[in-house]
Amino acid sequence: MTPAPVKGIAILSQGLAAVYEEPLGPAGIRVRERPRTEPVPGAVSIAIRAASINHLDLFMAQGLQRVTPPRVIAADGAGVVAASGDPAWRPGDEVVIYPVLCDWVCEWCRSGQNVMCPHFGVVGEHSDGTACEIFHVDARNVYRKPRGLSWEEAAAFPLTFLTAWRMLTTRARLRPGEKVLVVGASGGVAVAAAAIARHLGARVFVTSRSEAKRKRALELGAEAAFDSTDFSKAVRDATDGGVDVVVEHVGPATLAESMRSATMGGRIVTCGSTSGVKAEITMPRLFWGQLDLLGSTMGNASEFESVLKAIDEGLRPVVDRVYPLADVEAALTRLDAAEQFGKVVLSVS
Ligand SMILES: [Zn+2]
Repeated sequence: MTPAPVKGIAILSQGLAAVYEEPLGPAGIRVRERPRTEPVPGAVSIAIRAASINHLDLFMAQGLQRVTPPRVIAADGAGVVAASGDPAWRPGDEVVIYPVLCDWVCEWCRSGQNVMCPHFGVVGEHSDGTACEIFHVDARNVYRKPRGLSWEEAAAFPLTFLTAWRMLTTRARLRPGEKVLVVGASGGVAVAAAAIARHLGARVFVTSRSEAKRKRALELGAEAAFDSTDFSKAVRDATDGGVDVVVEHVGPATLAESMRSATMGGRIVTCGSTSGVKAEITMPRLFWGQLDLLGSTMGNASEFESVLKAIDEGLRPVVDRVYPLADVEAALTRLDAAEQFGKVVLSVS
């Protein structure tokens, strides 16, 4: 599905910015100077302090997202209001950005279902992105920065925590005390899902190919961590017959094992398919198991507000490493090599 172009207030990246110019992988993203203007009515101009990158940026750099360059990358950003075209915000306000694009006026948006909007999109994919010095965005995408977070942490949580929050709460209807398996638990959304599941009082289990990453997940509160190969038997043995919820983002390489890891009536919720777009499923397992197979992407503004509230209650993102904006190629290369645990952040000013 290719979303329709977003209408309304133009999103603009200004000053120095990390721009996708050619589908060469990380080397195709270059830092360029963009013209600076004043915000239009309804828009807020934010001096970005930190931005963070997601796999989406890497896919775009590899030419996999059907995005025509040039495009400034990154969905996540936090910074200080520099100028405001909206009375709700004043220069000096410390803010974070809700990374969803929508028209705010359709029936879906008016009923709070921004993810269903016919003009749905993602900041930094369907518009300019946050990896820049000055970012102009619709005032409705602007929220107060959580007080307890550093700039790097504030830039690290929006897209991944919003996505994982909707997956676990709205879609999988996770309840306290339930068992959650997070597959491939070192990427951004997976680390966010493990943290949120713990915050919501669930028991967390993870898989990872890397022993160091399994160790890190255990330090962060996972009850057990399994190798990524044929994990379902180990999961069932450790959980009295399977988990209530599986968080998936890998797709064909793990989906069968994920379904085998679920207990009777379990829910498998997916937001991605990094190992390919087509997967085969064993149908009897789905219906005999009374399983729910659920899709989810990004989240509504109200879900973003719930994430902010959970952060005020102590939920924290995991920052893997911080790079200066000028080193954006090295930051993307780290993501490309799957070396990270948590979020790779760009420090802007
Ligand atoms: Zn809409």
